[in-house]
Amino acid sequence: MTLEADYLIVGAGAMGMAFADVLVHESNATAIIIDKRDLPGGHWNTAYPFVTLHQPSAFYGVNSMTLGQNRIDSDGWNEGLYELATNSEVCHYFQRVMVEKLLPSGRIQFVPNAELTSDGSVVSTVTGQVIELDAKKIVDATYMKVQVPAMRPPDFPVADGVSCVPVNGLPDMAGPNRSYVIIGAGKTGMDACLWLLGRGVDPKHIRWIMPRDSWLLNREFIQPFKLSERTATGFAHQMQAFAHAPDVTELFGILENAGQLLRIDPGQAPSMYRCATVTQLEIEQLRRIKQIIRKGRVTAVMPGHISLEQGSMNIGEDSILIDCTADGLAHRPAKPIFSGQQITLQSVRTCQQVFSAAFIAHIEVTKADEDTKNEICTPVPHPDTEIDYLRTSLGNARNGAAWASDPEISSWLTASRLDGFSQAGIEPPAPTDEQQALGRKALQNLQRFVSESETSLVSSP
Ligand SMILES: Cc1cc2nc3c(=O)[nH]c(=O)nc-3n(C[C@H](O)[C@H](O)[C@H](O)COP(=O)(O)OP(=O)(O)OC[C@H]3O[C@@H](n4cnc5c(N)ncnc54)[C@H](O)[C@@H]3O)c2cc1C
Repeated sequence: MTLEADYLIVGAGAMGMAFADVLVHESNATAIIIDKRDLPGGHWNTAYPFVTLHQPSAFYGVNSMTLGQNRIDSDGWNEGLYELATNSEVCHYFQRVMVEKLLPSGRIQFVPNAELTSDGSVVSTVTGQVIELDAKKIVDATYMKVQVPAMRPPDFPVADGVSCVPVNGLPDMAGPNRSYVIIGAGKTGMDACLWLLGRGVDPKHIRWIMPRDSWLLNREFIQPFKLSERTATGFAHQMQAFAHAPDVTELFGILENAGQLLRIDPGQAPSMYRCATVTQLEIEQLRRIKQIIRKGRVTAVMPGHISLEQGSMNIGEDSILIDCTADGLAHRPAKPIFSGQQITLQSVRTCQQVFSAAFIAHIEVTKADEDTKNEICTPVPHPDTEIDYLRTSLGNARNGAAWASDPEISSWLTASRLDGFSQAGIEPPAPTDEQQALGRKALQNLQRFVSESETSLVSSP
């Protein structure tokens, strides 16, 4: 039997689910969702047990179903801010979305354990048999290539006899008289350090391999509902800074002084920015760890020592190495989102993948012309370096300006629970002349900063 539908959605991760949800609620289209996994939710099914969202649950998931209780945390290092769903909550949520929203529509079929192979056929991962499918369009919801450490071996050799586990193994491996080496300084590495500190481990038993220092987003300025004033203030500050900072160094300085960008060590110049989002309380905790190893990436792990790009370090028999080096979201090249029968889901607002997938679905069902759709949905690739902070801000600003000029899109944004700005009570701008001038200046300056940074990168030895 051949399964038939208007769309084949490859990947039942957060993006595939957010796209399907809009199809169900805003069109009469049918879709088949396939995933090589058993359950919807994508990488969240493999993430470490103590991971949480790093943004409030209030604007994560799919448009049609709330996630969490919109509670403000009364304790912990997120105290005073909106709740962050845990890993199991996120997985459970996506299962509910499938069972309570998508399947009951009668227009979505879910085929788990089914993989799209490189020759274009769909094959059951259980039986190896080809599954016959016929769809008018294919939605690639796998392009972001999300990777968490438990999904692959580390990309450095580990000799026998050394305890090196992906971050998922940390709670099982932890114990008295142990010392810990955290490998990787992205959000996963920070989470591992915070988990240890939160369980009472003395920071002197933690060494942290940090190939790059990072600019971090302050969660205090990414808040909905009752705390939306902070988001609005933060956004206004950011626009002022973009418009008036004389150069990139001053721009980062202004944003840091305003508390919008944070870094663990103010003495180090960050060269990384990957949208990791933390609180001031978490930063204070992370600063308790004094043994930071800045010798580049790990190249090999041997009994007694770790080789790094710029040196080595000794490890004792009591040392447990925690691999936190997976890429999370990779920095993928932008490609047209709409291309004939193919839709490739990518971010159209930086680091807001689920919002982006829902937005792209809305544009798919409301606009006809492919060029127009691609103009509205210009990808904003996932950031990696500190300069990408500027590039993604520029991409956001350009897309935001285009969306604000379309009343239909503006009202969709206002009604969308995945749009953090709507949840923050920030109306899509009906800007005053002064605000329009500020916006133009901000865009021009960002463009200049990006060009200057790229030129100085090319000319630096
Ligand atoms: C630790 C961590 C915390 C995060 N926190 C946040 C947050 O707070 N807020 C936020 O907005 N984002 C966050 N993100 C980003 C997050 O990755 C996205 O929000 C989102 O979950 C990405 O979903 P996805 O659908 O793009 O990818 P995935 O979750 O990777 O889903 C893709 C799916 O496609 C399937 N698949 C792949 N190839 C095939 C194939 N050939 N055939 C069939 N199926 C296939 C996979 O099995 C997978 O289930 C976080 C990411 C990480 C790693």
